[in-house]
Amino acid sequence: MPNFSLPDSVFEAAAARYPTPFHLYDERGIRENARALQQAFAWCEDFEEYFAVKALPNPAILRILREEGCGLDCSSETELMLAERCGFSGRDIMFSANAMPPREFALAHRLGAIINLDDISDIDTLAAQGGVGETVCCRYNPGGDFRIGTAIMGNPGEAKYGFTLPQLREGLRRLQALGAKRFGLHAFLSSNTIENDYYPTLAGILMRTARDLAEETGLVPAFINLSGGVGIPYRPDQERTDIRQVGEGVRQVYEEFFPEGGVAVKTELGRWMTGPMGWLVTHAVHEKHTYRDYIGLDACAANLMRPAMYGAYHHITVCGKRDWPADHVYDVTGCLCENNDKFAIQRALPEIAIGDLVVIHDTGAHGFAMGYNYNGRLRSAEVLHRQDGSFALIRRAETPEDYFATLTGISL
Ligand SMILES: *Cc1c(COP(=O)(O)O)cnc(C)c1O
Repeated sequence: MPNFSLPDSVFEAAAARYPTPFHLYDERGIRENARALQQAFAWCEDFEEYFAVKALPNPAILRILREEGCGLDCSSETELMLAERCGFSGRDIMFSANAMPPREFALAHRLGAIINLDDISDIDTLAAQGGVGETVCCRYNPGGDFRIGTAIMGNPGEAKYGFTLPQLREGLRRLQALGAKRFGLHAFLSSNTIENDYYPTLAGILMRTARDLAEETGLVPAFINLSGGVGIPYRPDQERTDIRQVGEGVRQVYEEFFPEGGVAVKTELGRWMTGPMGWLVTHAVHEKHTYRDYIGLDACAANLMRPAMYGAYHHITVCGKRDWPADHVYDVTGCLCENNDKFAIQRALPEIAIGDLVVIHDTGAHGFAMGYNYNGRLRSAEVLHRQDGSFALIRRAETPEDYFATLTGISL
């Protein structure tokens, strides 16, 4: 069993109402995660989760998170516009720069967002696009390998993000000369990490660096931004991160570096918040028996790219057959003309018949959002399972007219 699932009756009821494929999200689960995270960091004054919009950019979800006291982490001008339309403003928006067109800084500045600079050259851009505010955040890349204990968890030295330490020293001085008084420090060193030690280890690096930089520059450390990266157990044999233990681990590091308090902690979780609270609901529409046994679904990689792109595992269940023995081995495929369009490869599953409702788990983050239109495939609908058990269509499926709408110079 995956770490969290709705009962099959909910998927069946949703599929009776909306044509498959669609992504289904669970409101209650998302609210519970937001509360558990805030509880885990309740020791920290001014803690705030800035939900990473890119993980699940649907206004219905963003509004739920706003009701739960979350801000948003935006990575583009369009995401900033979405945040504004959903009622977020000012310090409840974090804008994570990354090789941006300069005008995107101007919108972030106008909204009063906290701007997280990715590179020392961003300082001049920001100065030219509205100016440097009193509080500014910088993204740190410590280089080399990132380890938790002895295990290598990532290779920041190969990553395109962030300032080096000498650049941080110089950059903060320049920001100070341009009017900054307080700074935040951010780093994202390992993605989809379920180890409880990820945030505490990262916090140690950031807090030590921020304390040293504050001493060197005289700037006040305003916050430590632990960014995203806390993972979820996509595989049934993986453990779920214990978020209370994570919060407690960060608290212990905090006490070591900032015993007087006064420095806030921020997070930008995407996957951990909504990943397990989404499912891609599909029907089996085809079967084929050649050198392998294939089941074809009415969804494809254009609806969920992670397996094709990263070889990512997503758990699959068949409605009404959860108790059946997994005594058939299938490649579960989509309909793209791409051999990597497989949701599962050589997966042991119960016998699947055409017409079965097949549910792909943990699609609530970086699922729909990574959709695309290759092969003229259209993005699916998104459906919300509300707390009272009812459903709401929160995005309709694309139509061929949507696909044609951006074409110019030809009438179709
Ligand atoms: C993608 C991203 C996140 C969210 O990452 P998750 O792995 O979904 O938690 C947070 N912050 C930044 C800057 C990102 O690019």
